[in-house]
Amino acid sequence: MTFAFDPLSLTLPQGHFIDGAYVQGRPQIEVRAPSSGQVIGHIPVADAAMVDRAVTAARQALAASGWAGLHPRDRLRALHRWADLIEADALTLARLEAVCSSRPVAQAVTGDVAVTADQIRFFAEFADKEGGDLVPTAEGSFGYIAAEPYGVVGAIAPWNFPISMAGWKIAPALAAGNAVVLKPSEMTPWSTLYMAELAVRAGIPAGLVNIVLGDGPTTGAAITGHPGIDKVSFTGSTRAGAAIMENIARTGIKPMTLELGGKSPMLVFDDADLDMTTDCLERGILPNAGQFCVAGSRIIVQRGIADALAERLGSRFAKPRPAPTWAEEPGFSPIISEPQLRRIDGIVQAARAQGAEILTGGARFDRKGSFYRPTLIAGVTADNPAVTEEIFGPVATFQTFDTEDEGLALARHPTYGLCAGLFTRDLSRALCLTRRLEAGTVWVNRYGRSRDHILPTGGWKASGLGKDLGREAFAANRRTKSVLIDI
Ligand code: NAD
Repeated sequence: MTFAFDPLSLTLPQGHFIDGAYVQGRPQIEVRAPSSGQVIGHIPVADAAMVDRAVTAARQALAASGWAGLHPRDRLRALHRWADLIEADALTLARLEAVCSSRPVAQAVTGDVAVTADQIRFFAEFADKEGGDLVPTAEGSFGYIAAEPYGVVGAIAPWNFPISMAGWKIAPALAAGNAVVLKPSEMTPWSTLYMAELAVRAGIPAGLVNIVLGDGPTTGAAITGHPGIDKVSFTGSTRAGAAIMENIARTGIKPMTLELGGKSPMLVFDDADLDMTTDCLERGILPNAGQFCVAGSRIIVQRGIADALAERLGSRFAKPRPAPTWAEEPGFSPIISEPQLRRIDGIVQAARAQGAEILTGGARFDRKGSFYRPTLIAGVTADNPAVTEEIFGPVATFQTFDTEDEGLALARHPTYGLCAGLFTRDLSRALCLTRRLEAGTVWVNRYGRSRDHILPTGGWKASGLGKDLGREAFAANRRTKSVLIDI
């Protein structure tokens, strides 16, 4: 299979995807390829009326198809067929993903697309296996908890893994019997549109998966504030998550799950395996140029191992070679946009101005496209912006500690609590510290999500509300009804 492609040669899906068909609108937002800066296409912005059209289509499709009332195995089979088509068309999807995102096309085929199909199958399996609950009630009565779909789920996704994020939202919602209106990021619309097209081709009734394009303040707000949206599922920044909470509070309370930002610590003890830890620290910040929510961007190392680790990381950080996302061999990823690259550099320069030492990197690559050098920053205090801010780039801070308590204090972030990495050979210490680390996920002697989709993901503190993946994500797409019958 040849992965490489010409970015201007792709046939791009055009318009919103509503009720199983493309709906055109005035092209308003320019979509650029971060690998080259070229304009790849334009997208329309769905206003309140267009969002309403999508919500109405979703409601009508639910009623006409009887989706929620189908035999659960029929929903399951439809989702498996969707996963089949996604796998069969992996290259087309991956190219549409790669052209304007930071995902190298080869990785999108073997990683993003393959994992998304796998996760759709994972959620499909819940359709006929998760029911309600018969509960103990007083003699002469019969009590149970029924679980029912919400109706129409409004989903909003970020740009950093467009296919996966869409899959995380759509698959559990459909498996549970809902319809979806989803807005992908305005920077990465194409692959999500094509996924929705494949859903219809797979026999999922038209109108159950609707994609509206546009920005956050117009289209996103129209979704979260629409009275016909029964539940909101959001992944993105903590700032946008707060704006969504505010809009929901203003326009009518509805349930929401929010997967938000992170600033995850990598806590390394002297007894850690040096080779394995170096690999994990590298994997924790360099893939996708650090643009992933669970990036291990704060490296916190016990003094005895610090020099050896800093030296190894320095040479690892010097290695990556950028390449356009459409190159045959995956290269180091671009930063999603020039404004985001300038933001990253701004934080790095502010960190330096506050006394930090840039061990390696600290500038953009001298070439076409938005590429930033892997950057390792030492000599930071707790209030340094490189420590406090989610940078969302290939930038990690390096701090040292002596005692376990000091290490834990550094690991604790005042705002975020998405993930934490812990590296030690001492099993007792590992077990104790997994309890004390303030994070929704703790990885010990490894870093990054696995294919164990049963493990939910979601943050503590300002990193989120509720979970994606796992049984929890399926449950989050149903509401319960308590029933008590006197007999
Ligand atoms: P973002 O918040 O800027 O945008 C995310 C999505 O929200 C986009 O589709 C955007 O158009 C929309 N949006 C923005 N403002 C909105 C508003 N007021 N109302 C409704 N929608 C709005 O985030 P991003 O830059 O696309 O993605 C990066 C962020 O996402 C990082 O903070 C990262 O940590 C987070 N993220 C979290 C997870 C997780 O699982 N916790 C996963 C991936 C990304």
